[in-house]
Amino acid sequence: GSGDFHGEVVVLGSGPGGYTAAFRAADLGKKVILIEKYDTLGGVCLNVGCIPSKALLHASKVITETEEMSEHGITFGKPKVNADDLREWKNGVVGKLTGGLAGMAKQRKVTVVNGYGTFTGANSIAVETEEGKKTVTFDQCIIAAGSEPVKLPFIPHDDERVVDSTGALELNPIPKKMIVLGGGIIGFEMATVYDALGADVTVVEMMDQILPGADKDIVKPLHKRMEGRLAAIKLKTKVTAVEAQKQGLKVTFEDEKGETSTEVFDKMLVSVGRTPNGAKIAAHQAGVKVTDRGFIEVDHQQRTNVPHIFAIGDVVGQPMLAHKAVHEGKVAAEVASGEKRAFDARVIPSVAYTDPEVAWCGVTENEAKARGMKIEKGVFPWAASGRALSNGRSEGITKLIFDPEDDRVIGGAIVGTNAGDLISEVALAIEMGADAVDLGHTIHPHPTLSETVNFAAEMFEGTITDLI
Ligand code: FAD
Repeated sequence: GSGDFHGEVVVLGSGPGGYTAAFRAADLGKKVILIEKYDTLGGVCLNVGCIPSKALLHASKVITETEEMSEHGITFGKPKVNADDLREWKNGVVGKLTGGLAGMAKQRKVTVVNGYGTFTGANSIAVETEEGKKTVTFDQCIIAAGSEPVKLPFIPHDDERVVDSTGALELNPIPKKMIVLGGGIIGFEMATVYDALGADVTVVEMMDQILPGADKDIVKPLHKRMEGRLAAIKLKTKVTAVEAQKQGLKVTFEDEKGETSTEVFDKMLVSVGRTPNGAKIAAHQAGVKVTDRGFIEVDHQQRTNVPHIFAIGDVVGQPMLAHKAVHEGKVAAEVASGEKRAFDARVIPSVAYTDPEVAWCGVTENEAKARGMKIEKGVFPWAASGRALSNGRSEGITKLIFDPEDDRVIGGAIVGTNAGDLISEVALAIEMGADAVDLGHTIHPHPTLSETVNFAAEMFEGTITDLI
């Protein structure tokens, strides 16, 4: 009827997974409809995730590096932080990207329907738009509904001093004393930002290390540097109660011995993980199975249990990362368009854009130990890299993990400035089945941090000659 839409491919959610799938399907000739509840496209990543956090992390790095230049003979004045201007700049960066997406959708004749969508049948979605309820029908559908921050029952989430990552990105206000609950990637990135902007930050983590996905040796240089900057990093510690008082948030900690203590903070960031949105879209009405935890299970072609409905991104499982969502989005769109395609990536790199950055991909030492796998490694400390020393940042480490059977690279981890960019070479090496000789014999430009990958391979082979 009037006001209703029909798409050959309908995509629910416009994050990195959703917009990639929509654009790819349109490029392959499909009539595509993209449903999004927010005014802008781009999902969590562009609006309140990857991009705004990286803008703030850039500003933070400028601050801390200039502070640290005083050790090298150059002293700057104390930075004056204008949170309003900084926020506006960050929002401008986001606006350029989300605006760009809107243009790209238009160019491809992808119809964007704004509103909250829920399945009403195996081929239909009802969307609550500003003009009322609209029905969108489809031949094939790609679910890209993403995830949202986990809430904890004992935390007063409706107190305005308690924020999730979205609230933290608003910098409103920059508190004196802040507690970050959860020392994972998002928590530690935001701790880095608030520390640089002048807050006294405490990070509390239940596990025995920050960034629990990465190997301990790789996390150590970050821990060491941040320990010197932050008020405290509390490991093996649980927050058991949070009381909203007039003068602040009274937080109760319990350490590994069961001893409790309390401290009052002005602001709390809760970054204890993200939960998929699978249970919120009435997927059962389409016959799509959703797990107890809200994930939608898919096969290697991103198909759900209902063959004409696909799912991608955070809603299908870990790791919840934008580049995984994008890759899955392409696979789903191509399969929906009749192409022979499957998800067969060997590795999905993880990066914490802290300072130093921490990046890893493929097999980690922790994982090898847990699985009883035999591995060999090549480790290159950046203290012997001319470029790292010239940058005044030689705390890094580059580690490669090899299969002892054939010397092929099966994993790698890097901590140091720009580690997130450097890890791509390791990912490519793994995808291409490269071995230690391939990496050791490839001429890397000197002096660069990328040489540390080459050197780590040479360390393994025992062919390294001089450390420069
Ligand atoms: P999302 O980006 O979550 O998008 C889902 C979209 O669907 C949203 O726009 C939502 O409004 C919409 N939607 C959901 N349900 C409905 C519905 N029923 N009707 C209509 N619309 C709906 N990842 C990285 O790789 N690198 C990083 O540096 C990084 N930094 C991050 C920093 C922060 C602070 C956060 C929170 C996350 C970060 N991530 C990062 C993770 C990354 O943002 C996600 O992995 C990625 O956004 C997932 O993409 P997606 O397409 O699955 O879904």
